[in-house]
Amino acid sequence: MRAQLVGIAAAEGYPDPFCGCDNCRRAQVLGGPNLRKRSALLIDGDLLIDLGPDVLAAAQMHGIALTQVCYCLQTHEHQDHLHPALFVARSPYCGVHDAPLLNFYSTQGALDRAMRDMNNFATLGLDEACARLNLAVHPIAPFQTFAVGPYQVSSVLAAHDPTITPLLYIIEREGRSLFYATDTGPLPEATWEALRAWGGRLDAVIMDHTLGYGAPSPRHLNGEQFRAEIARLREMGLLAGDAQIYATHIAHHSNPGHAELVEQAATDGYLVAHDGLTITI
Ligand SMILES: [Zn+2]
Ligand SMILES: [Zn+2]
Ligand SMILES: [Zn+2]
Repeated sequence: MRAQLVGIAAAEGYPDPFCGCDNCRRAQVLGGPNLRKRSALLIDGDLLIDLGPDVLAAAQMHGIALTQVCYCLQTHEHQDHLHPALFVARSPYCGVHDAPLLNFYSTQGALDRAMRDMNNFATLGLDEACARLNLAVHPIAPFQTFAVGPYQVSSVLAAHDPTITPLLYIIEREGRSLFYATDTGPLPEATWEALRAWGGRLDAVIMDHTLGYGAPSPRHLNGEQFRAEIARLREMGLLAGDAQIYATHIAHHSNPGHAELVEQAATDGYLVAHDGLTITI
């Protein structure tokens, strides 16, 4: 699998354009990999994780083609991950007549939120809206395993926002596997049970690092919590020997610029992605 990091920032972007902190000012000056857009991931050109608000800007900036995207796995409905206007942007309504049918997998809650924010399309009802938007929706729940085209996907529960049902995904294809795990705090025990039952070896993990050098939280991970989660995956035998471990969902208030974060992470045995980076899994 080839996974392209469409964006790796936390909810406010990095730099947050409204913020004058040292991290934001430095990122603005340095540019390049210090400019991080809100989180999304593209796998093999056809599977997008999160229909995020910066997907359009990232595609323009990094030359990422979304023309073949026919599957979308939605982690959750927070606004930094779900921007329903993009359903319209890829539809005949906006003059797009050659896009494949988009199969959208999300919880019912995320689907409800998407439909609420669809303006005129929301009043049509789901079936008619889907027909006009070249869209098929597939409500899913935590702890399911299902086929998504050539991929096998397992959904697990994140520890993030108790008012919604946030999901993390294990994505497998041709014997390779990726665990995409943002937004989350330390994983719930039910998720550890599901990982144990899954029993495979992860070739790559892309995990929440929102809080970096900040205080620990039950809803996101700081560096110490990140390392503890990775250590537990390793102890349980769930990591391949050469597994690639990447930090994502980077917040300006708790993480330094790219070079410094890469250096810190390297001493702790993991990697830091940057927007536009493609990794081979
Ligand atoms: Zn987020
Ligand atoms: Zn800042
Ligand atoms: Zn979130």
